[in-house]
Amino acid sequence: MAKLGHIVVVGASLAGLRMLQALRRLGFDGRLTAVGEEPHPPYDRPPLSKQVLTEDWPPDRTALLRDEDTALDIDWRLGARACGLEPGERKLKLESGEHIGFDACAITTGALARRIPNTPDIKGIHTLRNLDDALAIRALLKGSPRVAVVGGGFVGAEVAASCRARGLEVTMVEALPAPLERGLGRRMGMYMAELHRDHGVELRLGVGVKEFIGDTQVAGLRLSDGAHIPAELVVIGIGATPATDWLEGSGLELDDGVLCDEMCRARRAPFVVAAGDVARWPNRRFGEVMRVEHWTNATEQADHAAAQLLAGSAAREPFTPVPFVWSDQFDYKLQFCGRFTPEDESVVVDGSLAERRFVMLFGNKGQVRGVLGINRPRLVMKYRGLIRRGLSFADAKRPSR
Ligand SMILES: Cc1cc2nc3c(=O)[nH]c(=O)nc-3n(C[C@H](O)[C@H](O)[C@H](O)COP(=O)(O)OP(=O)(O)OC[C@H]3O[C@@H](n4cnc5c(N)ncnc54)[C@H](O)[C@@H]3O)c2cc1C
Repeated sequence: MAKLGHIVVVGASLAGLRMLQALRRLGFDGRLTAVGEEPHPPYDRPPLSKQVLTEDWPPDRTALLRDEDTALDIDWRLGARACGLEPGERKLKLESGEHIGFDACAITTGALARRIPNTPDIKGIHTLRNLDDALAIRALLKGSPRVAVVGGGFVGAEVAASCRARGLEVTMVEALPAPLERGLGRRMGMYMAELHRDHGVELRLGVGVKEFIGDTQVAGLRLSDGAHIPAELVVIGIGATPATDWLEGSGLELDDGVLCDEMCRARRAPFVVAAGDVARWPNRRFGEVMRVEHWTNATEQADHAAAQLLAGSAAREPFTPVPFVWSDQFDYKLQFCGRFTPEDESVVVDGSLAERRFVMLFGNKGQVRGVLGINRPRLVMKYRGLIRRGLSFADAKRPSR
């Protein structure tokens, strides 16, 4: 590949910033442009559902840029939304009408909060994806509303925990029989349900939202089982969808994200890479085409994709991480590495469920594929390394571990 003169990174958040940092670290000395829709410089999202809502952190503590990053010499184009990509012409189109030419492009546009269709446009109904969402919710929490959280995934469960930490009345509504079931399975989902109940969260499981009650301000929810949940604040946490709308018509393959090869290069456009929540690629280690919405993946994949972009066709290195996510709820640090499927067998190898401090391994065909820990951070990281090296259940159960 000819020497690259100008690289454009679209999406100026975690994966975007890590991409820019990696490109410079790896010796790229050409032009770097970062295009970001939000007006804010890159900031961290995990504290938005935790320390920002509980007011343990001022919002500016989420900033990701450090003083030394000025040396990266980046042309920041913030508050600028990309609305089209022409890979053949190597041009990016901005909503302002401006076109930016490039030699290579990195797509790091993340994901957007999913919405419930036909949600009325009334006060008090929010999603939580960005800093402005978190600040709006935080402002409402000061009025001590009754809170309904729709969706029991990681973000919903964290919002519920943060609101309880503020002493608010919280109801969580989840369509599946247990919160966190999609990521951790029924058994551990029920376990997390118990943990939330013990901390005062009212759980409504296996039901959906039939309608929002209220004319100009939300007053509550009507559930599919007929129940009425009074609430002056509703936070919807039903997942996210990859931000690929702006790539329609670009010719890139889009299928629940930007479809990439094993090296994180967009199919048919090797001078375009993708990383973070927006990227979908075949992870050889798990034999699965995956898209991972976790902080650690955004950083690791950005590093990897930056290296692949600069390496050209000479060095092809597949991206084969063991995915990792953490979640802080009440006084519990939950961490999960790897993959979970409902057919997996599981075994507790440290601590106990009763103590709420344990490490549990998941897997099948004799192979460990996932590890879940509650308040056992170091051990979980150790098992992440062991899964990378191909840990078998037989070895994992040996007492010497
Ligand atoms: C509330 C919350 C809490 C979380 N907590 C945890 C946690 O505890 N642990 C964990 O592992 N993960 C957590 N995550 C997930 C983690 O934050 C994400 O995986 C990470 O932010 C992904 O980074 P990204 O850069 O790929 O995408 P994003 O952070 O979504 O950034 C994408 C950026 O691209 C911009 N953009 C989108 N479209 C365009 C466009 N057309 N033009 C220009 N710019 C565009 C967006 O505005 C955004 O700024 C949390 C996420 C949220 C929302």
